Amino acid sequence: MERRVFGVETEFGLAHHGQGRRGLAPDEAARYLFRPVIDWGRSSNVFIPNGSRLYLDVGSHPEYATAECDDLLDLIASDRAGELIMHDLGQRAEAAMGADGLPGSVYLLKNNIDSQGNSYGSHENYLIPRTTHFRRLSTVLLPFLVTRQIIAGAGRIVPATEDAPAHYAFSQRADHMWEGISSATTRSRPIINTRDEPHADASVHRRLHVIVGDSNMSETTQLVRFGATDLVLRMIEAGQPLGDHELENPISAIRHISHDLSGRATVRTRDGKRVTAVDVQAALLEKARRFVARHGAHHDRVEQVLDLWGRAVEAVATGDHSLIDREIDWAIKKRLIDEVAARSGLDLGAPRLDQIDFAYHDIHPERGLFHLLVRRGRAERLLDDARLRRAITDPPATTRAVVRGRFLSAARAHGVGHTVDWVHHKLVDRPLEAVMVKDPFVTEDPRIETLLARLGGELLELNPAEREAQSVPLALSERYVRTQPAAPPEPPLV
Ligand code: ATP
Ligand code: MG
Ligand code: MG
Repeated sequence: MERRVFGVETEFGLAHHGQGRRGLAPDEAARYLFRPVIDWGRSSNVFIPNGSRLYLDVGSHPEYATAECDDLLDLIASDRAGELIMHDLGQRAEAAMGADGLPGSVYLLKNNIDSQGNSYGSHENYLIPRTTHFRRLSTVLLPFLVTRQIIAGAGRIVPATEDAPAHYAFSQRADHMWEGISSATTRSRPIINTRDEPHADASVHRRLHVIVGDSNMSETTQLVRFGATDLVLRMIEAGQPLGDHELENPISAIRHISHDLSGRATVRTRDGKRVTAVDVQAALLEKARRFVARHGAHHDRVEQVLDLWGRAVEAVATGDHSLIDREIDWAIKKRLIDEVAARSGLDLGAPRLDQIDFAYHDIHPERGLFHLLVRRGRAERLLDDARLRRAITDPPATTRAVVRGRFLSAARAHGVGHTVDWVHHKLVDRPLEAVMVKDPFVTEDPRIETLLARLGGELLELNPAEREAQSVPLALSERYVRTQPAAPPEPPLV
């Protein structure tokens, strides 16, 4: 596949700590959080001008799903923009609560497990050809994903149980996955969900839905997570022989691997061999290196992906975590926890260290510990602030998200009822003229322009300062205003 569409969905943890009194329950806090969204779009499930989707399900884990991206840095930027959007909503919710006599702080966490042990997800979406053999997904992709936690996990302190003392694990999600590959709902937490909803031409494409990943704070970790997965998919799509690491029991394997930081835990393959996560990752990395050497790099970050992937595998194999402790979430966070533990003489069961584990994922740019580490030069970034800021308001430029962003902004400027989803664009008054954009790579669609032209009147695009001056959250600000229709010519004086 020459170009691929990617998208990532993030569910956030939400908590309110009351000042001098009990905080609000999460579902009440979520209602405050989504108030501006509902005011703006009359729904708690909206597509916003940057092409992404903001969503509040019945629970209390607000979700942001990035627009379709075909470039890894756009994907990371769109996902990071989601954090900034949630943070903005969090600040507004805090102010609204205060005004209602409920002072306190709103916490939004980009992790996958709350203090009660509930888990929530970070789903990846990859456009793949319909011809991809299902068997290759189970023999190659599934073992890759089960072991990918050693290069892209977000890490966590696992509390002591009767069987094991408190310890540090690679992954947040590993203990919460229940199935290997399944078409059932994502509620049953399969590693790969095969529900057939391609949001594209179903005769040509599928959307691969990966449920297993940890949410990442680190942009470099995201690069290796999405970049390595893309490379493995490319090799599968090219029919490259990749060995067979099909696991006897993927679910027990993923847990076993997560809890052994030495990387030496062995798991059994279908054909009776015992392999480690390092074995599986190192084998696929080697294949990927050769594949790239033979076919060339298909984007300008391929070398960086291979380099970081290689260092992550080596760091686990040798125990020298300093190779990646500024770039890979589990190692960045572990270094911090280890330092505090050593300085304060604490062991891993200490509540203070648990707090650090959570605070690492706090998306608040001043309060969150990951962001603090970035400011101290102890964690790397890939994107600058200007790019992140743009991603809050602007769709990625090379996919149909541009069409969606334009359609919904223009319809709003005209004040006409409309609905959109990943594929459909409809004006409520003209249901028969609904436009389906099945090709996720198109950036313009004349049918949409025709539909909008029927609304008459000229639209004027606002500049960034004008948009920022609006009283709604930046992500929801209007892109256009409708200019007055030209005045009719004066009648002749006779
Ligand atoms: P749920 O939240 O119930 O799991 P879902 O996973 O079907 O729903 P959304 O939350 O709406 O879907 O997110 C869909 C994701 O898929 C978005 O990130 C979007 O950018 C991405 N996407 C859209 N079209 C495609 C496509 N053709 N191929 C790959 N990804 C796509
Ligand atoms: Mg979703
Ligand atoms: Mg999903």
